[in-house]
Amino acid sequence: MPHKVTLIPGDGIGSEITAAVVRIIEASGVEIEWESFIAGAEALTRFGDPLPEPVLDSIRRNKVALKGPLTTPVGSGFASVNVRLRKTLDLYANLRPVRNLPGLVTPFGDLDLIVVRENTEDLYSGLEHVVIPGVVESIKIITEKASTRIARFAFEYARREGRKKVTAIHKANIMKLSDGLFLDCFRKVAAEYPEIEADDKIVDNTCMQLVMKPQQFDILLLENLYGDIVSDLAAGLVGGLGICPGANIGELGSVFEAVHGSAPDIAGKNIANPTALLQSGVMMLQHLGERQAADLIARATIHTLSEKKIRTRDLGGTAHTTEYTEAIVASMKELSA
Ligand code: ATP
Repeated sequence: MPHKVTLIPGDGIGSEITAAVVRIIEASGVEIEWESFIAGAEALTRFGDPLPEPVLDSIRRNKVALKGPLTTPVGSGFASVNVRLRKTLDLYANLRPVRNLPGLVTPFGDLDLIVVRENTEDLYSGLEHVVIPGVVESIKIITEKASTRIARFAFEYARREGRKKVTAIHKANIMKLSDGLFLDCFRKVAAEYPEIEADDKIVDNTCMQLVMKPQQFDILLLENLYGDIVSDLAAGLVGGLGICPGANIGELGSVFEAVHGSAPDIAGKNIANPTALLQSGVMMLQHLGERQAADLIARATIHTLSEKKIRTRDLGGTAHTTEYTEAIVASMKELSA
């Protein structure tokens, strides 16, 4: 029986990188029946809603989706479809592994960090209003329920994957109530996992420490906004947004997507790096129990980057998206011969 997976190609570079990932996953031999949907600005024009109900129904049914980036208009326009999707399906945990790919030399050496970001509240609650002209209020929501749930997710992940430490990142010196609650919940949950080290750090110091001594971190646990910002910073430590994958996980399903956005500056040029989405696809295959295919794709990616030295421009190479994709497919054939 083929796996049924919802596919959202997305905006900007989305269609180019999802085509690459679908091509590579299909070449791995895994049978997937893709249910493809338009979302974002085009869906708003065509169907009157940037996140049409059939997309959500498909994910609810299949419980697994692979998603390209969706553009969020800046300053005005519709609310973020990415945020709406995470909230509607209660995909409360955003899991973002940050790892070096062998063969890519970076100034920060070998890194293996996991960013766990709370996905449903904080300043992403979308509660903003004009108090009086010239004065705007944005409301930060932090709840005991969501903070406890995400802390437990991080510690369960640590236990399952044999990780040593979880660090809660916060600004509880300034936001004593909201970040204070997040930290309290973290400490209570940490007490249930005595074999895993638990500590905490102020977010600004964390940013400095990440570029000075990143190896001191193992799992970073963050609220939604800090998680967004620190993820991009962490991506920069290992070679950039082009290689960092992610998963949005909840009880109702999981949506796999890259950390990066729709990169409109390079869209339509066949130069985007599909590795981040491909690595998200590898996480998806592991989730589906397709370990052999996941492993083959992961090895072929490393082989292409480090042995063949075929890379897209963001990694210092000259390969187009399609050339790089075919090189990975060829590597898969070589490695499985
Ligand atoms: P969002 O707000 O949606 O997260 P963003 O503002 O973080 O988006 P991105 O779209 O992620 O912006 O792009 C940031 C920079 O990284 C851009 O210069 C873009 O070209 C580059 N970039 C992002 N993804 C890729 C990729 N897959 N391949 C090559 N370059 C990329």
